[in-house]
Amino acid sequence: MVNAPTTNSLSGPLPDPTANAGYAADHPPRVGFFTDTSVCIGCKACEVACKEWNALPADGVGDHGAEGDVLGLTGMSYDNSGGLGASTYRHVAFVEQRVPAKTSVPVELGMPLSQLPGAVNPGEDREGDATEVRWLMASDVCKHCTHAACLDVCPTGALIRTEHGTVLVQDDICNGCGYCIPACPYGVIDQRKGDGGAFKCTMCQDRLGDGLMPACATACPTESIMFGNLDELRERADARLATLHGQNVPEARLYGHDPNDGVGGDGAFFLLLDEPEVYGLPPDPVVTTKDLPSMWRHAGAAALTAAGAVALAFLGARR
Ligand code: SF4
Ligand code: SF4
Ligand code: SF4
Repeated sequence: MVNAPTTNSLSGPLPDPTANAGYAADHPPRVGFFTDTSVCIGCKACEVACKEWNALPADGVGDHGAEGDVLGLTGMSYDNSGGLGASTYRHVAFVEQRVPAKTSVPVELGMPLSQLPGAVNPGEDREGDATEVRWLMASDVCKHCTHAACLDVCPTGALIRTEHGTVLVQDDICNGCGYCIPACPYGVIDQRKGDGGAFKCTMCQDRLGDGLMPACATACPTESIMFGNLDELRERADARLATLHGQNVPEARLYGHDPNDGVGGDGAFFLLLDEPEVYGLPPDPVVTTKDLPSMWRHAGAAALTAAGAVALAFLGARR
């Protein structure tokens, strides 16, 4: 049985994008990622696992690095992939910040240090008159949007909604027109040089079919990348946010988690420790095809008006 698509399919909350795409009512639950950046250690195991599983070429070398720099670091941070792209479906952002020193007691990690980073001596209040350095790390990926503009604009049907509610490019159908690239509000999808096709995270569709977790989530040693049923991940995220707020981390916030946001919520959402812009994420993304229905209505009205004017001119000329 094929479900009738629900209305309002280009923007706003959409409880079941899989059914909206025409899958039967008994389709698998929507899956996604909850990436808790507060526990990311920037090891890049996720990036490497993704490249290895998907046989993607290396970044950086020859692109960013100074001559002879085999790591190809960007020079801006401990980063050699620079951002998401056609050969980088996961990208770990490194953000170095100088922030006011906290008076909170740092967590004991069991590391052999004489002084813990950010430690405050008994009786010392450094708040307001001292700073400390912190690193924010966040593993970014395609958001597998509820309303995916990349999919809306694809003229060949290469971009599809899968039975798991994710967004997938079918390489053999993509004709390289590139329409999806400016359509993505996050700048995720990209064309590969020398190939022309559009590429992005597949949510490891080939692993999901075999009951395996995506390679990146499997490799993450801190469980910063959590994979699973999207509704359960949303509940986990709410609980984690409450925990962090209770631990005097008021700056913690969720990103892409709200079904009422401009893309109807993301299939891959995040817990951040600063504004989204700090991580290179748009603060208020909106599905770029949101206004397509009204644009088509206006275009139709304009075409009818033009046709009427031509008909009147033709009839007038015959009199
Ligand atoms: S993040 Fe971009 S590429 Fe990924 S599903 Fe959304 S619109 Fe498409
Ligand atoms: S889900 Fe698979 S394709 Fe997507 S970022 Fe993770 S490893 Fe790469
Ligand atoms: S998300 Fe996990 S695997 Fe990726 S850099 Fe952070 S800790 Fe490492």
